[in-house]
Amino acid sequence: MRNNPDSARRRLIQLLGSAALLSGPAGVAQAVNTLSGFRMVQQDNVMLHFDLSEATGDASLFTLTNPDRLVIDLPDTRMAESVTPESFSQGAVKGFRFGTHESGKLRVVIDLRRPVNASFRFVARQVGQRLIVDLGVKGNPELAEYKARITEPAALRDVIVAIDAGHGGKDPGAIGQRSTREKDITLKVARRLYNRLEKQPGVKPVMIRNKDTYVALRERIRIARDKHADLFISVHADAFKRKAAKGSSVYALSLKGASSEAAAWLAEKENEADALFGDIALDGLSQDLKQTLLDLAQNSTLEASLEVGDDVLSELKKIGAVHKPSVEQANFAVLKSPDIPSVLVETAFISNLQEERKLNSPRFQETLAAAIQKGVMGYLSKRAPEGTRLYANKG
Ligand SMILES: [Zn+2]
Repeated sequence: MRNNPDSARRRLIQLLGSAALLSGPAGVAQAVNTLSGFRMVQQDNVMLHFDLSEATGDASLFTLTNPDRLVIDLPDTRMAESVTPESFSQGAVKGFRFGTHESGKLRVVIDLRRPVNASFRFVARQVGQRLIVDLGVKGNPELAEYKARITEPAALRDVIVAIDAGHGGKDPGAIGQRSTREKDITLKVARRLYNRLEKQPGVKPVMIRNKDTYVALRERIRIARDKHADLFISVHADAFKRKAAKGSSVYALSLKGASSEAAAWLAEKENEADALFGDIALDGLSQDLKQTLLDLAQNSTLEASLEVGDDVLSELKKIGAVHKPSVEQANFAVLKSPDIPSVLVETAFISNLQEERKLNSPRFQETLAAAIQKGVMGYLSKRAPEGTRLYANKG
């Protein structure tokens, strides 16, 4: 080792110190540093570059003979999961392997074809630092540079919540006794929900429609998919032939049949826009799509839909009457994304005179939006998709 002996000793002391501290009473060490990149460069000399996530300045190196090896110990460090041991058919370096000591120390062993005279230094990087080991032997520029297949962890993303304001444009939806049009109420509540979700860290809401336009049901699903939605919330205002019907309801897709006669009736009404306005008939689904929908019964999307539905419904219960005590299921076309958990919220009955009045009140619209937002956040606190900031922060 050519490195300054004082600093080498200091490093060794640091190494021992941190290992002892981290072992703790339970003897469990948690690595804080990640070896996130490894490169062998054949320049004048053979150089090894180790990229580390933290700038700890801790490393100790020593050589062993018979066979020749260089050992690099990195305290409190783990190897990125995608790295596997490698061997090389020519050059000074025969290969490398590594293992983690229970103290949390990562040991990298470089198997050598000939003795080396290694030295090392740390170089600061934008994040963490790079340990550069100069093997002190001539490199062979003919040999291609070796780069470990280390995938940098992708940046964490936001959870994308698609907000679908029901109806729109030439499709007014249900019409109240005082001529309130469902499409206007759904857009107002949807916009309020958007504004609320936008303020939630780690959440990015997207509107399926943000003006008074007609969007076919399947187009809504397509837009959600294009926006990479993780959740789909369709906002409606119920209508029923029985004018006294009242309260909020939450629906998830049913593949077998509606959970109640009213649900079946409603699904037919909500779906009829496409039939009325010339979209491809829903029962004209391809065999493929039908199969996908059947598969959906077994996969977790429906389960997730029911779960987010439960969370939204329990928030709606807190603000007033709910029509049914649990999430209902019906064959709503707009809920048919096979891979995006989707729910349809019937905020209140526009056909009920009293509820029609409430639906027109900005205060009630805000209360509804708040309840839906809380339900969505409650769901995401348990079930945020992997790779999202919310998932990472879950702890
Ligand atoms: Zn509707």
